[in-house]
Amino acid sequence: MGSFLYDVIRRRAPAADKVFLENHDGAAITYGGLDEGSARMAGALARLGVQPGDRVAAQVEKSPEALLLYLGCLRAGAVFLPLNTAYTPAEIEYFLTDAEPRVFVCDHAQKEKLAGVAAKAGVARVETLGVKRDGSLMEAFANAPAEFADARRGPGDLAAILYTSGTTGRSKGAMLSHDNLASNALTLVDYWRFTANDVLIHALPIYHTHGLFVATNTMLLAGGTILFQPKLDADVILKLMPRATTMMGVPTFYTRLLQHKGLTPEAAKHMRLFISGSAPLLAETHREWRARTGHSILERYGMTETNMNTSNPYDGDRVAGTVGFPLPGVSARIRDAETGADVPRGEIGVIEVKGPNVFSGYWRMPEKTAAEFRPDGFFITGDLGKIDERGYIHIVGRGKDLVISGGFNVYPKEVEDEIDALPGVIESAVIGVPHADFGEGVTAVVVRDKAAAIDEKTVIAALGARLAKFKQPKRVIFVDDLPRNAMGKVQKNILRETYAKLFSA
Ligand code: AMP
Repeated sequence: MGSFLYDVIRRRAPAADKVFLENHDGAAITYGGLDEGSARMAGALARLGVQPGDRVAAQVEKSPEALLLYLGCLRAGAVFLPLNTAYTPAEIEYFLTDAEPRVFVCDHAQKEKLAGVAAKAGVARVETLGVKRDGSLMEAFANAPAEFADARRGPGDLAAILYTSGTTGRSKGAMLSHDNLASNALTLVDYWRFTANDVLIHALPIYHTHGLFVATNTMLLAGGTILFQPKLDADVILKLMPRATTMMGVPTFYTRLLQHKGLTPEAAKHMRLFISGSAPLLAETHREWRARTGHSILERYGMTETNMNTSNPYDGDRVAGTVGFPLPGVSARIRDAETGADVPRGEIGVIEVKGPNVFSGYWRMPEKTAAEFRPDGFFITGDLGKIDERGYIHIVGRGKDLVISGGFNVYPKEVEDEIDALPGVIESAVIGVPHADFGEGVTAVVVRDKAAAIDEKTVIAALGARLAKFKQPKRVIFVDDLPRNAMGKVQKNILRETYAKLFSA
């Protein structure tokens, strides 16, 4: 036995000369090159003192070599710990102190700033990796042998720790095993019908589960080719589409591409599948995309802790505004958030999931872990949702985004859907803001068309006939854009802070 996940990758690898990755700068890596490169990376890590079970943390820009680092970690038996490139030195210090990696890899330009932080956290080695095959790690790589005897790692051993984005409280390290990753990628290859003929447009960051595991592992296990882009550039994506068959993106990819005149059925003719996840796709975006390209976007639902849980079907209806059915091998149920009791079909509760995809717990947080699992092994996702009569799962928001006004629960998505349907509205976010009488006052933050003749009064009046009084926004605020993170998620915590004094002024 070698390293479990890498063994699965190796067993399924196509011919050595098949291209695995084509970088935006024209550089390419074949499957043979990937095997050699990951061996060199594993060798380099071992020479730096990395032993099986050690963590290797990396805050680096997206590059093919960063993927080799991930695979090198698998082969060296190390636990890969990718960090968002947006994190500040103070945040990095927290992660390094918490995870105690043997090696920390960062960008050359950041080394000066981060070396002190790493020393404070007790990290023995700081290496650098740039986007031009440069940095001290690449020197070690060049000197390492082209073959490596993989460390023995079983299905239950840790492959990675990914810190959750932690918009409330401390960020937690989700411990993901070799089998969590392997089983989910194998399921997705089958469910989404990936084959060696697939060519994937990859414009997602690779410090997050979406770009790293969903996109990369799935393509590796399919034996397909990845077109690697540093970020979403609509012009470039449209140029790549005639050579690609599929794209995975966050909803903002789709809304941005829809703003491009070049998005036509002809441009998307060669594509077989567009997948969206990480944040809710507006039903409107789904419809527009279909009208413009002839393709129905396939929306799926997952999270850092669980990999992918549910997906709309490959064949059959891809229903806008839903995240489809539990994937094969995954069980999902809706429970009352407080009592934990089953709720009748169609009613809203917290989504709980169980399966080989679900992580084993939070790094060094046994109490937090215990609190988020039920005794029968289901993980409490914290997402609120319901299952409709056809079995499709609908997400209505994060539990922490629930608004409680005058003692009544208001599910933001229900109000957002009504506002989004009004003429002239582009999108909206509904939040709860402290209110002396109601506890929280429902507040809508709305992006409108520049030319639209709507204001606070017209929105409130239009909702009067559509929503119960307690769900209607007490205030409507217009903004140019909603604050979003790199994964396209609306940052409601920022909105709540911005408007915290709205009702007390
Ligand atoms: P992350 O751990 O960063 O991947 O974030 C996971 C969270 O993103 C989930 O718990 C959901 O709240 C949200 N999410 C992911 N996919 C979807 C989706 N298709 N629709 C709505 N929310 C989603």
